[in-house]
Amino acid sequence: MKIAEMRLHPIAVADAPLRSSYGRHAPYALRTIVELRSTDGLTGIAETYGGDGPLAALEGVRSRVEGMDPFQLSRLWMQSEEDARREQADIAGGRSQTYLVPGENPLDKHTRTYGAIEVACLDLIGKALGKPLCDVVGGRARNEVAFSCYLFYKHAGGGGLGADEREDEYGEALDAVSIVAQARQMVARYGFKEIKLKGGVLDPDIEIDSIRNLRAEFGPAYPLRIDPNCAWSVDTSVHVGRSLKEELSDGGYLEDPAAGMDGMAEVRRRLLAEGNQTPLASNVAVTCFAHVPEAWRTDAVQIVLSDPHYWGGIRNLQRLSHLCDTLGMGLSMHSNNHLGVSLMTMAHAAASAPGLTYACDTHYPWQTEQDEVVAGGRIAFHQGAVRIPDKPGLGVDLDFDQLQKLKRLYEGLPFRKRDDEAEMRKHVDPNWRRILPRW
Ligand SMILES: [Mg+2]
Repeated sequence: MKIAEMRLHPIAVADAPLRSSYGRHAPYALRTIVELRSTDGLTGIAETYGGDGPLAALEGVRSRVEGMDPFQLSRLWMQSEEDARREQADIAGGRSQTYLVPGENPLDKHTRTYGAIEVACLDLIGKALGKPLCDVVGGRARNEVAFSCYLFYKHAGGGGLGADEREDEYGEALDAVSIVAQARQMVARYGFKEIKLKGGVLDPDIEIDSIRNLRAEFGPAYPLRIDPNCAWSVDTSVHVGRSLKEELSDGGYLEDPAAGMDGMAEVRRRLLAEGNQTPLASNVAVTCFAHVPEAWRTDAVQIVLSDPHYWGGIRNLQRLSHLCDTLGMGLSMHSNNHLGVSLMTMAHAAASAPGLTYACDTHYPWQTEQDEVVAGGRIAFHQGAVRIPDKPGLGVDLDFDQLQKLKRLYEGLPFRKRDDEAEMRKHVDPNWRRILPRW
């Protein structure tokens, strides 16, 4: 079996005006669907970041992918590493995502691109063998994968523009009370058992109240986590960690409170000195294998929030799982706006990673049926978890009518890159810019 053709489909999906320390989500999020068509008539698929950058990077490996044997992934990885080594000398700045949203980090380009091709190849292999993807990479540690209830402070609106607007299922949530209503609604609908709040948006004391209200509403059976994406100074991070010592215990964590490995390590030292064991999780200070040794040595991060998309695919997730296990670090996954192909990629990655210790994040509740690209509609959750289907590969196929619709949406958009600051300036404050630390 060889790959005969790679097809790339840039798409746009409606997105609600969610807030984070990066700013405000635009009415549409960008994604890319990858199709690899084999010489024996099978098709492997993947979903990754969208817009010009990720698309150009995929286009850049076309000559390598077309004609390749989808089983020969190690060679593709080595070529990708070679490209990265060659180019990194020309790219200024560190690899950390402190200032860059995922998908826009030039130093993730090669692992991100490799990850998408690998997943499509594994989907293809699964389809050729008639086996689910997680069984192709060594079998499963679990048959269902738990996801967390991902809460956002948000403005009114469900995403999309004009005649294409989506229903605002959850309404505005810009205080410590309405966020609990959002949680109640989402937990009732999906059955999630762990709760995450995207913070770094309101005054930290309002965010502390939000977490306390969530604890009061759901009790200690629902682990809580808060992620301000580095919006806090070390002092503020310690203040929040101290204030939420009880609420973030029992399986919860504090995610990327302060910027940089040094900042995280300082927060950890000061909390530990107070007898506060709340673990720190990160998908900002730690974004690749090269970051893990320092994160471990300085105790800056106790839980790595991985991602099969930019860590370089599902097999790298397994390697990371073993590494975290060896080092005594926890492992979970962060997420981005995504559709069913990406959600199933995360599910297969998590199913095949023995060291996964927390429910994975997902933005899935923030997209609607109208934007799903998977045939048969939205992926079902059972008590907050996604079951690994018996079908071969990822277990999902593309709905080509939907794909065409989402491609037309993309073509009609005036932007080709995520820019949450621009949305803030347009709708909230004409002078807004991302300041770290803000508090
Ligand atoms: Mg995060």
